[in-house]
Amino acid sequence: MANKGHEVEHPSVTLFRQYLRIRTVHPKPDYGAAVAFLEERARQLGLGCQKVEVAPGLVVTVLTWPGTNPKLSSLLLNSHTDVVPVFEEHWSHDPFEAFKDAEGYIYARGAQDMKCVGIQYLEAVRRLKAEGHHFPRTIHMTFVPDEETGGHQGMELFVQRPEFQALRAGFALDEGLANPTDAFTVFYSERSPWWVRVTSTGRPGHGSRFIEDTAAEKLHKVVSSILAFREKERQRLQSNPHLKQGAVTSVNLTKLEGGVAYNVVPATMSASFDFRVAPDVDLKAFEEQLRSWCQAAGEGVTFEFAQALPSAGTLLWSLRSSPLPLTAAISARSGSRLWASPP
Ligand SMILES: [Zn+2]
Repeated sequence: MANKGHEVEHPSVTLFRQYLRIRTVHPKPDYGAAVAFLEERARQLGLGCQKVEVAPGLVVTVLTWPGTNPKLSSLLLNSHTDVVPVFEEHWSHDPFEAFKDAEGYIYARGAQDMKCVGIQYLEAVRRLKAEGHHFPRTIHMTFVPDEETGGHQGMELFVQRPEFQALRAGFALDEGLANPTDAFTVFYSERSPWWVRVTSTGRPGHGSRFIEDTAAEKLHKVVSSILAFREKERQRLQSNPHLKQGAVTSVNLTKLEGGVAYNVVPATMSASFDFRVAPDVDLKAFEEQLRSWCQAAGEGVTFEFAQALPSAGTLLWSLRSSPLPLTAAISARSGSRLWASPP
């Protein structure tokens, strides 16, 4: 965050530095101070302020600017207040001092991830209010705890509560990428991580013979099919300069397991894959594709998911046809890097 020159510091930068000095750092974040800071912002801006204690000591703070048409769904601007731990010996300045150098650069934990965003929301609302704007839709700013440890004690609990339903969020913005320029990039989708384990079973036997129908032969076929698909996607990315990595499905073979000895043909072998499924892929159809690769390899080849998160992009796009997918999206992603994250 730069504020070059020697002019008087902009009040929003002063506010930003105050926010940075609140030690909301894991493993013992001072959430009380953050909530008090936000309550004071609400008071100064004339916004509603609701505190929802989702777990003991863990409060989601909601600042609200009511719209003129309460029938419309609301706009939700989310940010998290917690920050990851620091290794002070690697810092040139105290990470909770919010030191500003002569160039205007500010050094502090959470400056990018993501206290700057929370302050940008507040400053945008302050300016729009000061300019006399009124909007039909209600704008909620949610400040959540516990994002950096998975959101289980924060957004994950909040979305299950009536207070969240009552916000009637129709669209939401969340964390994205820091940007060195004045541009604020909005991402609308994210690849879906699918961790898949393919297990092949076949006839065991002695390593000196030509055993038929072995687990290894069948696993080899599945691995070949998946790696051929990988190559196709790689070529698709390389041959089209308009495509970014996040627009194609990547896959890597990350684990091979099986076997007990050099001279024993095992009855079972498995291969694990890390798929990142592109946002525009039909997930049901893709699962069918996986199934057909396994079936084509022969009898006794199955797959299971160690993890298969729904694609954020898919959920967000379905927002157009259903009133509830936003909730689904938030629930599905447990309030970590949600639906407005980089691909
Ligand atoms: Zn973050």
